[in-house]
Amino acid sequence: MLIERLNRLPKEVLGRVKFIGSVADEMHMNAYVVGGFVRDLLLGAKNNFDLDIVVEGDGIAFARELSGKLNGRLAHHKAFGTATVVAQDNSKIDIATARKEIYEFPAALPKVTPGAIKDDLGRRDFSINAMAFGINKNNFGQLIDFYAGNDDLKAKKVRALHDLSFIDDPTRILRAARFAERCNFKISPYTLNLIKQAASHKMPEKVSPHRLRDELILILKENEPVKCVKLVEKICGFSFLHPRLVVDQKKISSLEKAAKVMKWFEDNFRHKRKVDKWLVYLMLLLEDLPAAEIRKTADRFAFRSGEIKRMLSFKADCKRAILKLKSELKPSDIHCILDPLSYEVILLILLRANNRSVEKNINNFLHHYNEVRILVGGEDVKKLGIKPGPHFKKLLKQTFHAKLDKGLKTKEEELEFLRRKAKR
Ligand code: ATP
Repeated sequence: MLIERLNRLPKEVLGRVKFIGSVADEMHMNAYVVGGFVRDLLLGAKNNFDLDIVVEGDGIAFARELSGKLNGRLAHHKAFGTATVVAQDNSKIDIATARKEIYEFPAALPKVTPGAIKDDLGRRDFSINAMAFGINKNNFGQLIDFYAGNDDLKAKKVRALHDLSFIDDPTRILRAARFAERCNFKISPYTLNLIKQAASHKMPEKVSPHRLRDELILILKENEPVKCVKLVEKICGFSFLHPRLVVDQKKISSLEKAAKVMKWFEDNFRHKRKVDKWLVYLMLLLEDLPAAEIRKTADRFAFRSGEIKRMLSFKADCKRAILKLKSELKPSDIHCILDPLSYEVILLILLRANNRSVEKNINNFLHHYNEVRILVGGEDVKKLGIKPGPHFKKLLKQTFHAKLDKGLKTKEEELEFLRRKAKR
């Protein structure tokens, strides 16, 4: 069954898996493909061919050898006994030493020691993610499934491996919601009960925020993030993000509307910068909090400065921009209001405005004004005998606005405008 699925993989992927196995044979090591690759292969849902390899033995030495043979690039993380080989075609192979993990106290990072494949699979989050298959010659394509993951795949169940799973690592709560919604699975009653217990002890609030942040971003990057958000709200709530965060029906419909607005943007403006959809959802989740609380939350979770800037800009600029955009405006006025804002914030303005004039102005900005560039530059201003200085920039801006408002078409028309302005 698994071998049939393997044989249906693109030739180069199967060839790569076999090649990795042959390197393991040469080094007298047991090597396995593990985790999501196995799950997706059995589900018949494979479209990401990055490989997760576990070897019994020195994973770093194995990665070094493999990288050399593939002429790839190697990055290793010694502390974790893991390495990544990036092959010539940019496909990624993550390699780890099979390991045992011991959680010395709840929600801490585990103590890691080398182990066998069974130990390595036993430390994983859910049975469906705890399968492997051998890639050495003697066991190629043999499914290794100590925890009945394949049965759970067939029964469409997300099931944790042991009672302390969510106490050891509460980020698994978010992962449970993510895999359940992505695969259209149910979280098993046993697992749901464990999640509720961990949530009632406020375990997610005890994890280091950056780990929660990474899992939250993954949730918001899923194909159907709103379904995931609903499930997270149901099973543990969002107090880990902020104690006053409310995810009610109103919030859910905001998120659903945002999904539509972003789809509209994607369909109509393929050539523009891609919107960070996950950030738009996050901005809506945090929307009701005061700006100072958003800032604190963003800092605590160590979001990047560009992300924080956009979060705060939504709070600071949205209402004011809507008010201005409701009136009859010249194209240059619209440009002045919207150009400093990110697409994420502009789309949220569109979502929040519920007003024809605002919609029309934003549409015009995105379709037309945002694309306009002047043909004259600093050199042309210099040639008019004007000395460089702050007015230089002002003159060019005036030309740009004239182009938007008066429809200057050619470079000659822009130069003529510049000349007239410069004389004054
Ligand atoms: P995706 O398709 O989203 O990449 P994935 O299963 O590959 O799914 P990763 O987050 O890349 O997910 O993790 C790889 C594997 O590592 C998982 O399949 C799982 O076995 C294990 N894993 C990841 N995070 C945890 C965790 N918090 N606790 C236990 N095991 C984990």
